[in-house]
Amino acid sequence: MGEQQAPGPVDVAVIGGGVIGASVARAARLRGLDVVVIDPEPGAGASRGNAGLVVPGYCLPMATPANLRAGLRGALGHDAAVSVGRPLSPTTTGWLARFALSARPGRVRSTARATFELADRSRRLYDELADAGLDLGLRPTGWLWAFRTASGPRAAAAVVRDLERAGSNGRMVGPDEARALEPALTPDVTAGVWFPDEGVLDPARATEVLLRDGAERGVRLLREPVVAAERDGAWIRSLRTTTQVVTARWVVLAAGASSRAVGALLGARVPVEAGHGWSLTIPTSGPPLRRALMDADAHVVVSPLPGAVRITGGMQLGGRPDGSRSAATVAGLRDAATGLVPALAALADGTAWHGARPMTTGGLPLLGRDRRVANLVLATGHGTLGMTLAPVTGEIVSELIASGSGRRTKGAVG
Ligand SMILES: Cc1cc2nc3c(=O)[nH]c(=O)nc-3n(C[C@H](O)[C@H](O)[C@H](O)COP(=O)(O)OP(=O)(O)OC[C@H]3O[C@@H](n4cnc5c(N)ncnc54)[C@H](O)[C@@H]3O)c2cc1C
Repeated sequence: MGEQQAPGPVDVAVIGGGVIGASVARAARLRGLDVVVIDPEPGAGASRGNAGLVVPGYCLPMATPANLRAGLRGALGHDAAVSVGRPLSPTTTGWLARFALSARPGRVRSTARATFELADRSRRLYDELADAGLDLGLRPTGWLWAFRTASGPRAAAAVVRDLERAGSNGRMVGPDEARALEPALTPDVTAGVWFPDEGVLDPARATEVLLRDGAERGVRLLREPVVAAERDGAWIRSLRTTTQVVTARWVVLAAGASSRAVGALLGARVPVEAGHGWSLTIPTSGPPLRRALMDADAHVVVSPLPGAVRITGGMQLGGRPDGSRSAATVAGLRDAATGLVPALAALADGTAWHGARPMTTGGLPLLGRDRRVANLVLATGHGTLGMTLAPVTGEIVSELIASGSGRRTKGAVG
C-alpha cells in the first residue's frame, strides 16, 4: 500500500488493515473513493495465522446451548474447546451474559441462516475476484468434519439437520466415504460431514494481496495507531494517530478484537470481545492431506497450506492467555490433530501463533452505521469467519458508503 504521511482530507479512513479493513479499503477505492488505511501493523492481527478456511458451512453460531455447557466446563477448569479467560472483567461478564441470552433455538436458527447467506455470497465473490485476476490463493479442497466417538453418527446427523435449515449443502458421510475423501484420516472415524464447496487459502498471503492490490489502485497507508478522535457533536471531525491528524468524511472501524477499545476512543460502544485462538504451522515437503479437516468433537482444524500443515483451535473468551496456558493449548491441538491424521506424528516441530477473533454476542458481524456516531461505519465482529466474510464485507460496507446512506444492513446486529 502506498506509504504516505499526513493524508489530506479523505473520503474514507479505515482503522485496521487486517483482511476486513483491506477488503473494505480496496472495495471503496474501486467505487471511486479516496481511502486511507490506518494501522501500525497491517496484516499482523487475527488475519495472519488462522486456519484460512473459506467455509459458508460454518454458519452455526457459537452461542448454542451445547457451547454454553462447554464454556461452563472450561470456566470450572476442565479441558474444553471453549473456555472463559481470567481475569474476568465486568465488561467481559456483561458480554458473556448477552452471549448466553443469544443461545435460544429460534435465534440460533435465524443467525445460522443469515450467516450462511452472507458467507455463501462471499464464497461466490472469491470466485469473481479470481476471475477478475486477483489471485487470493483459494483452493477448492472441500472441508470434512470427522467424528470419532461412538455417538458420532448421531451427532453428524444432528449437525446436518441444522445446516440444511440454514441452507448449507453439508452432507453426512459414513466412515468409508470419509476415508476415501481423505485417505490420511485415522481408521477410528465413525462419521463425517462433507462440505464439497468449501476451500482453503493462506490467510497472511490473501490479506497481503488485498492490501497490495488496494495500494496499486491508490489506497494510502498510515502505519500508526489511532490514539484519539476529535468529535463535533455526533460526528467524528478528525482522527489522531501518534504523529498525524486525519480528516475523513467516513470512518470505518475494522480493528478486529481491538474494536471495542478503539470504538471507545471514537465515542462508540462496540460489543466485541476477544475470542483467543491458537495455531501451529508445520512445514512439509509434500502434501500430507488433500482436504481441510476438522475434528468435530475437539473443534480442531487441520488445513493443508502451500508447503505446510496448519493446526488451529482453542476458544478462550476474554482475559489474556498466559504463556504456559498457550503452550499447553498448542500441545493439545497437536495431539488432537495427530489423533485425526496419524501421519502428523512424523512431522517436525512447528511455529506456534496466537490470535484473537472479534466475537459478537449473537454471532453476526457488525456491518453498518454506528447508532451514536454519525459518520462511523462498523466492519467488525466477524468472529470465526473473518476470512470467509471478507469479500462480502467489502462489498456491503463500500456500497453503503458510496451510496451515502450508511444504513444498517442485513447481517448487522446491535
Ligand atoms: C485460531 C483462529 C482460526 C481462525 N480460522 C478461521 C478460518 O479458518 N476461516 C475464517 O473465515 N476465519 C477464521 N478465523 C477468524 C479470522 O481470523 C478473523 O475473523 C479475521 O482475521 C478478523 O479480521 P479483522 O481484519 O477484523 O481483524 P485483524 O486481522 O485482527 O485486524 C485488525 C487490525 O486492527 C489493527 N488495530 C488495532 N488497534 C488499532 C488502532 N488503535 N489503530 C489502528 N489500527 C489498529 C491491528 O493492528 C490489526 O492489524 C480464525 C481466527 C483464529 C484466531
